[in-house]
Amino acid sequence: MTVYKCTKCQKLFESYGKEKCDICGSEVEPPNEYEEAKFLKGKELCQQIMDSLNTMGMEGVFGDGFIAGVCSTHRSLQQDFCGLLQRCILHFASMNKEGWHDQRNEATVKLCAELAKVVKEKGWVRESERTS
Ligand SMILES: [Zn+2]
Repeated sequence: MTVYKCTKCQKLFESYGKEKCDICGSEVEPPNEYEEAKFLKGKELCQQIMDSLNTMGMEGVFGDGFIAGVCSTHRSLQQDFCGLLQRCILHFASMNKEGWHDQRNEATVKLCAELAKVVKEKGWVRESERTS
């Protein structure tokens, strides 16, 4: 896998060989060393969270503890966390295309497509998330 950076929307993503951005369709280029290292750190953190979900599940007390942890952290960090969730929602919504999801994540993609409509309708899309 190689990390690419979109020349227009500046998003980083991994692929086995890309010439165009998944999000906006623009040309891609290699990211700089710092961007790539930060991208990979984000992936590493994600893997830790996913491993925990895989073994502990999101329902019940583990989920309660996670939510309590998020909601008791600094309010600016709560805002950043919610912004990250919003970016995930918009990304899942962009996968609401034939062949981009299957039955395992269909409910997530469909839910996020509906949530994205509200986010866009209300004008809550952050400048960094605008692709057009
Ligand atoms: Zn792009």
